[in-house]
Amino acid sequence: MISCAGVLEDYIAEIARNARLNAFIEVYDEEARLQARQLDERLRSGGPTGRLFGVVIGLKDVICHRGHRVTAGSSILSEFHSVYSATAVERLLAEDAIIIGRLNCDEFGMGSSNEHSAYGKVLNPRDETRVPGGSSGGSAAAVAAGLCMVSLGSDTGGSVRQPADFCGVIGLKPGYGRISRHGLIAYASSFDQIGILGTCVEDIALCLEVMAGADGMDATASSAPVPPYSSLVGSGKTFRIAYSEEALGHPSVDPEISAGIRLFMEGLRKEGHVLTPVQLDFLDHIVPTYYILTTAEASSNLSRYDGIRYGHRTDTESATLDDIYAKSRSEGFGKEVKRRIMLGTFVLSTGYFDAYFTKAQQARRRIVDQTLEIFRSHDILLLPTSPFTAFHFGEKSEDAISMFLADIFTVYANLAGIPGISFPIGKHSNGMPFGVQGLSGRHRELSLLQFFNRTTS
Ligand code: GLN
Repeated sequence: MISCAGVLEDYIAEIARNARLNAFIEVYDEEARLQARQLDERLRSGGPTGRLFGVVIGLKDVICHRGHRVTAGSSILSEFHSVYSATAVERLLAEDAIIIGRLNCDEFGMGSSNEHSAYGKVLNPRDETRVPGGSSGGSAAAVAAGLCMVSLGSDTGGSVRQPADFCGVIGLKPGYGRISRHGLIAYASSFDQIGILGTCVEDIALCLEVMAGADGMDATASSAPVPPYSSLVGSGKTFRIAYSEEALGHPSVDPEISAGIRLFMEGLRKEGHVLTPVQLDFLDHIVPTYYILTTAEASSNLSRYDGIRYGHRTDTESATLDDIYAKSRSEGFGKEVKRRIMLGTFVLSTGYFDAYFTKAQQARRRIVDQTLEIFRSHDILLLPTSPFTAFHFGEKSEDAISMFLADIFTVYANLAGIPGISFPIGKHSNGMPFGVQGLSGRHRELSLLQFFNRTTS
């Protein structure tokens, strides 16, 4: 007979066997075992069972879980323990999920390759010489290698969808505010959203249903009603699908990926869906707008790590308070985080504020307006997730600009606040998986879930 304890043991063994992947920073094996035994006991005694009874879930190391360490992949928080749990975590636990451990990521969610973690790189389980993507690289690798059933990540500009794409799993970033950000360590607050990685749409739908909805602890969490996603995902609906020639033909996109997406679209036409091209003339403004606004927000959010209130404090003799701040931050933050704090401070500085920050806010507004227009007459917009498949370690890490530019298709959803999902559709001749990205209108996560779970007759 299957028991929670038995299933959990298999996952713990699998994690140990795959330790070299470095997906987990910490495994809560004893605590999870205890919880699994309690669940089995409850089942035996005929007690109530939650909707996620015994589901084994990993948490990206940016999501607070009371009494557990949370470091955002940074040495500045290496000794920090959460004093409360994220609303998302509380809701998972209330439905009897088992939290198995803490997953590696780029420091403060800043990166696309998981090469910027203070706890070492994560290997891609599909090819260990390649990056798993980022910043939720541990979350994607863990699901792809079968080390947990689903995982949570955070997505500020693609950090759930791009690693899902690189590792061949499904990654959903709900629309802004769909899941409370209470207890999610902030990178760029008007972009951040907790996302879900899994291997089938039903699992993701159920987790979303459990975590979504208004929260008194986060004023930006949406109070829009939460549909019972998991019971609605099976649909034989016909979808109105938009696609962009500029995106598919974009010079950055690997021709095998665009050919794969075109083939996927051909299949959709045969299934009877209606596909129409739309104009995305703002495409080349997306990345600059994103990097101005997110670095600005990050420079402000990360100012709380001052060596006094949180985390690492320098040991070196410091003459003044400013000295403590400077030394603690210089020692605690990694290179990429420092780069972004400096960029963000620059775009917010007097004299440059209007030229950069205000301009980027205006660009964001236009992108939002044009996007809402597209979804007035379409259910889904199809885009690539990433221009290329998972690359080799070191291949792009010295060239920050080319790494930034590769975020072109994912940062769009965060700028517009809309939901996005990456779904695996093919295998490149280099052996790596790639996916397609589906986007939908505000609060239309259900369309995405139904679309990628459609029944084809
Ligand atoms: N790669 C993007 C960045 O570095 C995405 C990060 C994210 O979504 N957290 O900002």
